Order: sequence, then structure tokens, then C-alpha cells
Amino acid sequence: MMKKILIIEDEESIAELEKDYLELSGFEVEIDNDGETGLSKALQGEYDLFILDLMLPGVDGFEICRKVREVKNTPIIMVSAKKEDIDKIRGLGLGADDYMTKPFSPSEMVARVKAHLARYERLIGSGMPDNEIIEIRGLKIDKTARRVWVNGEERNFTTKEFDLLTFLAQNPNHVYTKEELFSKIWDMESIGDIATVTVHIKKIREKIEFNTAKPQYIETIWGVGYRFKV
Ligand code: CA
Repeated sequence: MMKKILIIEDEESIAELEKDYLELSGFEVEIDNDGETGLSKALQGEYDLFILDLMLPGVDGFEICRKVREVKNTPIIMVSAKKEDIDKIRGLGLGADDYMTKPFSPSEMVARVKAHLARYERLIGSGMPDNEIIEIRGLKIDKTARRVWVNGEERNFTTKEFDLLTFLAQNPNHVYTKEELFSKIWDMESIGDIATVTVHIKKIREKIEFNTAKPQYIETIWGVGYRFKV
């Protein structure tokens, strides 16, 4: 399958030159000249590699690199006109895979693109495990990244809220008492009691339920505890 590359670069002549060379080498290429739209494409689209300029209108390359790395391991080659900037971004450890100083020879860029794609494929092929994901109706829990989405919208959870939700979702159709949940999620030294569980369940419901009075995920079993509904 044809590999797809996104170039985020505001200097159109440079972007076009890169595109021409990459297309000649058999890649599919998209260009975005703006940091903000480039970032949203990078986050939402399916690309095999990013070529990312540092200085961009809207959102700069530092920020784009950081945001992309939070969710994707796709290779990133960062380019900048200033050698000092390259040194700076190396130092920041943003997770870019390579750096090039402008002007560079397009054929060298193509060679690096190929090298990074090959390296990334080896990495994937060598069984880099996929993130462990639990999906129940509109609720998606990424256990590896510790992130939660409700109908595609991300919600922020505290550590214990996340642990509690994940524990229940992993053990559906099983009623747990508050005592059981407290001992499973909170360690022995924790200060608190079973009321902590109630408080956390309430907070979780506020984040995942459409109507907290009629929860569709975590049911209250009166006098006993809670059960995750599947
Ligand atoms: Ca620029």
C-alpha cells in the first residue's frame, strides 16, 4: 500500500519541492501550510510519516510534535532554517525521529524518509503491542495510555477514578461491594473509607453517563454495591 506523508510547512515552494521528490519516489503526499490545521490533520488523519517545519503560523512545530507524540508513534522529521533551533529541539526531547536543517537536498530527505519508514515498520512488525482498549457502547478506555473517551470526546479522570472505572469495566456483570472496591483500588495505607468509593462512583458517572440518575454503565445494586452493565 502506498505510504502517505503529511508535510506541514508554510513556505509553499519548499513544501512543493518536497512533495515532488516524494511523489517521484512513490509516496502519497499532502501539504498543509498552517500549524493549526496541520495539527488537526496530523491527529485525525492516517499518515505514515510527518515532515514538520518548526516555525509555522498558528501552532508551531514544537507544539505539534508534542501533541502528536501524546497519541501517535508515527515517525516525525523536523525541519528548520536555523541550526540553533535544531539543537534546541533535540535538547527538548520532544520525540521527533530526525532533524534536518534547511536548505537540504531533496534526495537526502527522501533517503531519510525511507529509512524512518523502514525502521518504523520493523518496530511495528516486531510486535510492539497495541494499546489495550476496552470499548463498551460509547465508552472507550485506553488502559495503556490511561485515557477515556465518551462518544468520541475525551474526559479527564484522576488516577483513582480511572482505576475504579477500569476495574469495573474489566469485570462486568459482577457486583462488588464498596468494601471490596475500596480494598482493590486503594492501598492499605490509604486514608479514607468506603464513602470514598461512593464519591468516586459519583464523579465517574458525571463524566461518563448521559443521565446520572439512570446510569447505563455503572449500576447501583441497593444494599450491596456496584455492577458494570454490559
Ligand atoms: Ca516556516
